[in-house]
Amino acid sequence: MPDKKKNKGEGKKVRVPFRRNRLKPAREKDWTQRAREAEGHEVDSQARENVVAKGDLSRQRTIIVRDDEAAPRETWRRGVVLSMRGLFAAVDEGERIVSCTVRRVLRTRLIDERHPVAVGDRVFFSVGESGDVAVQEGVIEAVESRKGELRRLAGRRVQTIAANVDQAVIVSSAAQPAPKPHFVDRYIVAAHAGDITPVVCMNKMDLDEDEYGAAVLAMYAELGYRTIATSAVTGAGIDELRALLTDKESVIAGQSGVGKSSLLNAVDPELALKIGAVMESTEKGRHTTTTAELIRLSFGGYVVDTPGIRSLDLSIVPRNEYEAYFVEFAPLVPACHFPDCTHTHEERCAIKEAVERGDIRIERYESYLHLFTEPGVMRE
Ligand code: GDP
Ligand code: ZN
Repeated sequence: MPDKKKNKGEGKKVRVPFRRNRLKPAREKDWTQRAREAEGHEVDSQARENVVAKGDLSRQRTIIVRDDEAAPRETWRRGVVLSMRGLFAAVDEGERIVSCTVRRVLRTRLIDERHPVAVGDRVFFSVGESGDVAVQEGVIEAVESRKGELRRLAGRRVQTIAANVDQAVIVSSAAQPAPKPHFVDRYIVAAHAGDITPVVCMNKMDLDEDEYGAAVLAMYAELGYRTIATSAVTGAGIDELRALLTDKESVIAGQSGVGKSSLLNAVDPELALKIGAVMESTEKGRHTTTTAELIRLSFGGYVVDTPGIRSLDLSIVPRNEYEAYFVEFAPLVPACHFPDCTHTHEERCAIKEAVERGDIRIERYESYLHLFTEPGVMRE
């Protein structure tokens, strides 16, 4: 925890983990360019600020943050938050990763709004002019408004575990384990609820002897979803998957054993090592961190590495919203006799009639019923 003691008008002493910039430089990515052009970011206080390196203290260093004063805006730099450790963020600037604290005025406001800085946030930060180029500590001055969020329930609060997620690649396998459309439907609903584009991926297509995998995939294609058939073993669809992930922030969701790690390893062999490293550190810090991390793809883009499948938790989505996220139900809902029809037990329900006519697939309706009656966290 940062030391909250005030230092007589000089600013606040903040103890930060002493870590040299051991992370290797990363290439500048498209998003930084996009971010530079972006409009409408949130801007905070205009005052002046300093970060002063005070030397090393065993494994920590002290920096002084004048919380009342922001750095001049023309000196702000842009980055993406890769991970959060308490109130410290690892911010990817493209060239390097900068460890940043969050300016207090911003922190207070964000926490008030239950909107703290999250992994995936596009931020503006400043770095003090200590003249020491080795000093990589910065201060987050402002956070851009978000699009696409992974959320979950932490106690009774909804917590953002990753911001600006573009797409959820929902992975199933053609066999071992066999496809479970119901799981796919749950993930699709969770993605829509977070304003994240779902993509349905069927892996292990080399094992699709009965062509059930292909049939399930065709069903989602018919509904209008982007689909992708892959095999981490034969390499089928891997180039397409790589293209899909390029310059996007993606979450890879799916039951364990469907081949998520194998697919990521196939699209970016460097990634396996990074994920291994993160999992190791997550394992060690199991009781202190529950947050996701962004992992940079060597060809551009990020994947969200979440500490579990519950990242696509449906318990935060009100049940009466499900109908909107079943794309083929949504246009029929106004035709139900009862305005508050839940499409379960009601008479003259347009959804049930469409199921009887064969316009809505029975599997999809069963998914809806299942979700409606058991919306809790998906278990593996
Ligand atoms: P994860 O739990 O979703 O990350 O799944 P893994 O990547 O660990 O894969 C689970 C198992 O499936 C491993 O034994 C992989 O070798 C195997 N596997 C992954 N992808 C394929 C594939 O496309 N075809 C076949 N036949 N096996 C695969
Ligand atoms: Zn109805």
